Amino acid sequence: MADRVLKGEEVAREMQRDLTHRVVALGAKGIEPLLSIVFIGHAASARAYIKGIERTAMAIGVKVHTRNFPPDVKFAVLKEHLQALNEEAKVHGVVIMRPLPPGIEEDTLGKILMAQKDVDCFGTVNAGKFMAGDKEAFPPATPQAVMEILKHYKIPLRGRRAVVIGRSMVVGKPLAMLFLKEDATVSICHSHTKDLAGLCRQADILVSAAGHRGLVGKEMIKPGAVVIDVGINYAQGKIWGDVDYEAVYPIAGAITPVPGGVGTVTSRVLLKHVVQAAEGAAAI
Ligand code: NAD
Repeated sequence: MADRVLKGEEVAREMQRDLTHRVVALGAKGIEPLLSIVFIGHAASARAYIKGIERTAMAIGVKVHTRNFPPDVKFAVLKEHLQALNEEAKVHGVVIMRPLPPGIEEDTLGKILMAQKDVDCFGTVNAGKFMAGDKEAFPPATPQAVMEILKHYKIPLRGRRAVVIGRSMVVGKPLAMLFLKEDATVSICHSHTKDLAGLCRQADILVSAAGHRGLVGKEMIKPGAVVIDVGINYAQGKIWGDVDYEAVYPIAGAITPVPGGVGTVTSRVLLKHVVQAAEGAAAI
C-alpha cells in the first residue's frame, strides 16, 4: 500500500467512472435510473447532503426528484407519498433524509418503504435482509463507503482484527456486519465500553463513528494500523473527524482525512445502489 492517506476523492472518481458506463448501458435499454429523495423539515445538514447527491447524480446521469415536506406534515400524507413511490416503476431508489423532525417515527416510516427501493437501508425490512446476509439487500451508504475505500486501496480484511467505535444502525452495527462478511474478526465499542484505548490498540483496522472530536488519540493506535474516521463534528467553523489526525498520522499505516475521506464516497455509494436497483428492474 503506497498511499498512507486514503483519499475519498480518488475512490469517488473511480466509482463515478464505473457508474457512468453502467448508466449508459441502461440508457441503451431505455431505462433512466431515478432516485426520489424525501426531505421532511429544514435541516441544513440534509439540505447540503441533497445538493451533493444532486450534483454527483447529474454528472453520472442519474435523475433525482426531491420532495420537501414541512416539519409538521401529516403522517397520512407521507404514507401516501411513499406508497406512490413504491408503485411507480420509474422510481428505482428512495432516500428519506435524516434527521427527521420530532414526532415522526423512523421505524413507522421505514416500514412503508419497499425493500427493493430502500437504497440507504432506512427501513427495517431491508435492514433485516441485510443483517441476514441477503445479497440483494442494500447496506447503508456510509458503512459501504468505508468498505469501498478499503477495497480501492486493497487493504486485506480476512483474518484481521477490526474495531468499530459506534453501534448505531446508520454506521457502526452494519459496518461490523460488512467486516464479518469479509472474514475479519470484529469488536464493536460504544459509550459504555471499558478500556476503549486497550481494545483499539488491538485493531489492524480501526474505525471511529462516534461523533466525538478528538476521541481517538495516538495512544489508541497499534503502529501500522489502518484508521478510518467516519466522524463529522462541527467546531470553529470547520469540520473535524473523531481522530486526532496530526497525532495519529505518524503512527498509522494509513488514515482517512476529514473532510475528504468517507463523506466524499457516501453519495457515490447511494447512487451505485440506485443504478444497481435499476439494473435489477431491467433484468426482470
Ligand atoms: P450516533 O450518535 O447514532 O452513534 C454514535 C455512537 O458512538 C453510539 O453508538 C455511541 O455509543 C458511540 N459513542 C459516542 N461517544 C463515544 C465515546 N466517547 N466512546 C465510545 N463510543 C462512543 O451517531 P451516528 O449516526 O452513528 O454517526 C456517528 C458519526 O458519524 C457522527 O459524527 C456522524 O456525523 C458521522 N456520520 C458521517 C457520515 C459520513 O458520510 N461521513 C454519515 C453518517 C454519519
